[in-house]
Amino acid sequence: MTAVDPALRATRTTCPYCGVGCGVLATADGRGGAAVSGDPEHPANFGRLCSKGSALGETLGLEERLLYPMVRVSNGSMERVAWTDALDHFAHRFAHIIKRDGPGAVAFYLSGQLLTEDYYVANKLMKGFIGSANVDTNSRLCMASSVAGHRRAFGADTVPGCYEDLDEADLLVLVGSNAAWCHPVLFQRMLANKQKRGARIVVIDPRRTDTAGDADLFLGVKPGTDTALFSGLLEHLADTGALDHDYIESHTSGFEDALARARSMAGSVGATALATGLSEQDVAAFFRMFGSTTRVVTLYSQGVNQSAQGTDKVNAILNCHLATGRIGKPGASPFSLTGQPNAMGGREVGGLANQLAAHMGFTPPDIDRVRRFWKAPRIATHEGLKAVQMFEAIARGEVKALWVMGTNPAVSLPDADVARAALKKLELFVISENVASNDTVNAGAHVLLPAQAWGEKSGTVTNSERRISRQRAFLKPPGEAKPDWWIVSEVAKRLGFGAAFAFNSAAEVFREHAALSAFENSGGRDFDIGALKSLSDEAFDTMAPVLWPHRLGDTEPQQRFFADGGFYSNDHKARFIAPEVPALRTETTAGRPLRLNTGRIRDQWHTMTRSGSSPRLGQHLPEPFVEIHPDDASKSGVADGGFARVITDYGQSLLRVVVSERQQRGMLFAPIHWSGETASSARVGALVAPFTDPFSGQPENKATPASIMPYEYVFRGFALSRTQLKLPDHAWWARVAVTGGHGYLLADNADLGGWQAWLRSVAGGDLAEYRDFGGGVYRAASFARDQIETCLFMGPARDAGDWNVVKTLFAIGALSDDQRRTLLSGKSMDGLANAGPIVCACFGVGRTTISDGIAAGAASTAEIGARLKAGTNCGSCIPELKRLIAQADAVGNGTDPQRRQFAAVTN
Ligand code: SF4
Repeated sequence: MTAVDPALRATRTTCPYCGVGCGVLATADGRGGAAVSGDPEHPANFGRLCSKGSALGETLGLEERLLYPMVRVSNGSMERVAWTDALDHFAHRFAHIIKRDGPGAVAFYLSGQLLTEDYYVANKLMKGFIGSANVDTNSRLCMASSVAGHRRAFGADTVPGCYEDLDEADLLVLVGSNAAWCHPVLFQRMLANKQKRGARIVVIDPRRTDTAGDADLFLGVKPGTDTALFSGLLEHLADTGALDHDYIESHTSGFEDALARARSMAGSVGATALATGLSEQDVAAFFRMFGSTTRVVTLYSQGVNQSAQGTDKVNAILNCHLATGRIGKPGASPFSLTGQPNAMGGREVGGLANQLAAHMGFTPPDIDRVRRFWKAPRIATHEGLKAVQMFEAIARGEVKALWVMGTNPAVSLPDADVARAALKKLELFVISENVASNDTVNAGAHVLLPAQAWGEKSGTVTNSERRISRQRAFLKPPGEAKPDWWIVSEVAKRLGFGAAFAFNSAAEVFREHAALSAFENSGGRDFDIGALKSLSDEAFDTMAPVLWPHRLGDTEPQQRFFADGGFYSNDHKARFIAPEVPALRTETTAGRPLRLNTGRIRDQWHTMTRSGSSPRLGQHLPEPFVEIHPDDASKSGVADGGFARVITDYGQSLLRVVVSERQQRGMLFAPIHWSGETASSARVGALVAPFTDPFSGQPENKATPASIMPYEYVFRGFALSRTQLKLPDHAWWARVAVTGGHGYLLADNADLGGWQAWLRSVAGGDLAEYRDFGGGVYRAASFARDQIETCLFMGPARDAGDWNVVKTLFAIGALSDDQRRTLLSGKSMDGLANAGPIVCACFGVGRTTISDGIAAGAASTAEIGARLKAGTNCGSCIPELKRLIAQADAVGNGTDPQRRQFAAVTN
């Protein structure tokens, strides 16, 4: 493979979002953006990209970038300094704290967005040279339960299968995974299998997500009951002769105990149905499908991992695969779908506080081996603080210095307001970042270090199937941004460890990482990429995506693990685990009668610091919302399209309401993406209980007891501006990228005179106004060179103006006289029909347009594609197209349960 596609002259790189790890071809356009397409030669995606990947070229602007090192000075402000000054200042203060309070007083908090080389160097510095294992990562919030489950069962954190299994399975069981939105390219691959080979799909999830829309069987379990379901399945497999006794006998131990526990927990179809809230018919159907299908892949993701019982859930799933010998065989395996682009790479280097390095732990032989390899003067000898514990230790004043790299814990941690407040107690708070402002930066950082971003940095990432791919640079780094591995190495040199951190390139770091994986590894450790330890710089540059293990001397690449046993425990046998009786850590009460589930939406990523800058991605679901079942909505008095306050014992948010039968009774769902930077009151992490799994330390993000109450706003509206606006404190707002600037969706109860004064204070240029305060309407726009600079539309809930029409006028630049005259009417005009909220992000096709197409006779997604192009590129919107067709059918035959799913904006 070449680093550059010869025909397109595009750089081959890897998508920086999810753990699918799609190959991308990128060409800088010379204007700060890039043309981006899927790499047809990459085995993770064969040319496909989802909506997020397709829009990467829109996310490369420098407007919000951190470009120079900054240090807080005595008057409290941040001041630009030279790199050497920033690094000297940081290292001096860091060394002082270590000397005074010991290595346990400092910590690193890393990110699944870092490249493996960055991760490796940071882990080496803290665990080998500073002498603390206080290195943890946002991957703790993502897949730590899978890691813990793998290690308990297999003796190592090994993903046994690969993506080809998704093509070859006859049954795909998705547990706690909305893959249609969160791993879209892989989900399309599963659907292709369904279409071509007739594979069946089972979806197990408390929410009827878009993934469930394609399921042959949907099991809407009660939250926290996956362990009971898979325990019931184990019992069923045993009772119906579906066990692989030879495999159990030869390659495992602990089966009888696990089966006895399963029988006590869910000893029959009826008991399983009772425990999970499912019908006996559905439970029996699932058990029959699983029991009778040899080629079955069970895929699990955050619904399993993000739980205070996450590790037991993982092991309950693994038990069923071990008991049937369906592991590491073509089309038959358990499969952890990793959330982040390089969570796997982080796991490989030891980026979690309970791992040492290269899939080695804190056993005396491993500690000694790594110490000798690194020539480490003071290697950490025991596990460090996991993410939630780390921030609790900061709050107690025990951890005094923290270095955060490429993540936003003030938004993403559970009980996030408390975590954010804890940061203010730090004596030294350093952040390496791409952006100049986010909730964590704004929590009082003392030193900001500009890190290179996607498109500028170079190194490797590992995806969910253990495939290592190159991220390559195709843009010149802006300002003084540097690679993270370089920044860490420079700090290490200043701490006196120069000889061990004399890296000159990512390739040098990778070679050392590969060498450590193979060091004294004669097959006792799964992670071995010794064949890559001597790659030349040129070979590293052109390295093709490669699965690990890739051992020195291997003639054939090893795709899978454990078909013939060979586990990484002392006796080489897998362990069945008898899980605890599942019980959620918290009970609902009369005051908190609901449970809050949190998760992702289709077109945004994490805290939106990258995806939030794409106008295309901002069109699908532009506002923070809470989804609720119609029965709970009517009990609580909240209405679809209105507002509600969602309250837990930890915090509260004000969100738009989506009433949906896809939501289970008793449950709320709110997305995690909005922060203090993008909305006035939607830091959903602040609502989440900080309870963690006892084995993995992963927080319970899916079941916090909550209440909801309606909230009324008299006025709704929106503003558009070429530059970011500071909104009045009393307003409810959500910011979204729009073509040409920034959009704000608004609601408020303050009088319109105040809005007029505000608009006049922020809008320069030539101002046009329409005012009817008696009728509750205020609209104004300022112009420069015939284009809208800033505009504001406020009015009663149903008459605030047409956001989509005004947004289109804002985007087209210079307005005609007619357009300028009619702008403040806020109404649709010829040629600017309101397409409705965008469903197909690739081609900008809105819900109204699609519904019109369906009404005109498009009866399938293919026909919609043929007429409107919607769904013909990445396919991420196909589940939603199917839903719109189904809704139209229901309307046609009078059975529409709920016509309106989500009117995202003000009209
Ligand atoms: S599925 Fe989408 S977000 Fe995930 S790696 Fe592929 S293009 Fe990127």
